[in-house]
Amino acid sequence: MSACGLAVRAWGYWRRNGRYWTLRKAANALLARAARRLRWTWCPSGPVVAKIEATNVCNGDCRLCPVGRGDPGRRPGGMMDWELYRKLIDAVRGTVVTVDLTNWGESLLHGGILDMIRYAHEARMYTYLSTNLHTVRDGHVEGLMTCGLDELALSLHGLSEATYRAYQPGYAFGEALAQIERLVDARRRLGRDGKPKIKINFVVTAKNHHEVEDVPAFAARLGVQYVLSEASLNLRFKVPPEMARRRPDEARAIMRPVIDEWVPPAGRCDRAVYRELLDDPAAMYDPRKRFGCDWPWRTLVVNWDGAASICCGSFHADDDVGRYTGGPIGRLWNSLPYRRCRRAFRRRRGEAAGVLCEQCPGVLL
Ligand code: SF4
Ligand code: SF4
Repeated sequence: MSACGLAVRAWGYWRRNGRYWTLRKAANALLARAARRLRWTWCPSGPVVAKIEATNVCNGDCRLCPVGRGDPGRRPGGMMDWELYRKLIDAVRGTVVTVDLTNWGESLLHGGILDMIRYAHEARMYTYLSTNLHTVRDGHVEGLMTCGLDELALSLHGLSEATYRAYQPGYAFGEALAQIERLVDARRRLGRDGKPKIKINFVVTAKNHHEVEDVPAFAARLGVQYVLSEASLNLRFKVPPEMARRRPDEARAIMRPVIDEWVPPAGRCDRAVYRELLDDPAAMYDPRKRFGCDWPWRTLVVNWDGAASICCGSFHADDDVGRYTGGPIGRLWNSLPYRRCRRAFRRRRGEAAGVLCEQCPGVLL
């Protein structure tokens, strides 16, 4: 991109999002970047992004998600308490630029979700929410347009009944489409001038890759933006490290059908590493960070009950890195488990043994 194009983009970004930045946040983001680059275990900066789980309750049955598949080891279901949420936002408001209110659940099932968005918006944070669309109720439609939400991601992993149901078998494509139309219509009616940004999230798989070329026109017809995403197969829930390392044939026998069924042909969004895993299943747990990952320095992840996870792929409570109950965020952000996770990025990992990052190439596969 030319310098001129870059300047235009930067100006556009500033016009849309300048209100979320302060000098302190900018300095913090730079410091977080430096800490990541130098692999400091004690992080002098605060989180830049907060991923806060409003709820882990979900109506979805997405075929690649451990929640939708009903994989064992899920935490008890619950909703984040308002007081805990308020304390958390207050604790990070000086450094956090973006807050994402989605993790392992469907956030619109939380009765106070609109107030949660509003509170973060008033704390000058860019607010993001993702939904599977089948929980949008009458009260949400206009509320989502006026509560200060900046970006609404809509899961739509197919452009036809057959491809849509392949990923979300319990739900109908037509219903999802009708919900999108209601949301876009409300935004237009309320004169919201493109806010929130509404975006289809289309996860590309072997079942829908033939529709990829149609996604831009489809989104334009609906009046929304789109993003194409790589599928996460979550194979680690099916193949534990011990099996991947010592019984590769057994691991391959489990992985191959999943990869054949879901990974699209080589090209856009095919996440080639999945096919490579068939040569070497142990690569799934290779501690050398083949993929860049900045979660431990940049993003705070807090589950509905206050338990903190090192990244959005951490599912089991055994992998938690602490718990937020109130007070300054530094106690959690530089807790021993957090520091051990950062230590896992060093060549000499030492005390990192036993934390999730220690057995991860930088993306949880
Ligand atoms: S992907 Fe989201 S909506 Fe689908 S089952 Fe998982 S948590 Fe629920
Ligand atoms: S577990 Fe993997 S993806 Fe998650 S923060 Fe650690 S290295 Fe990154």
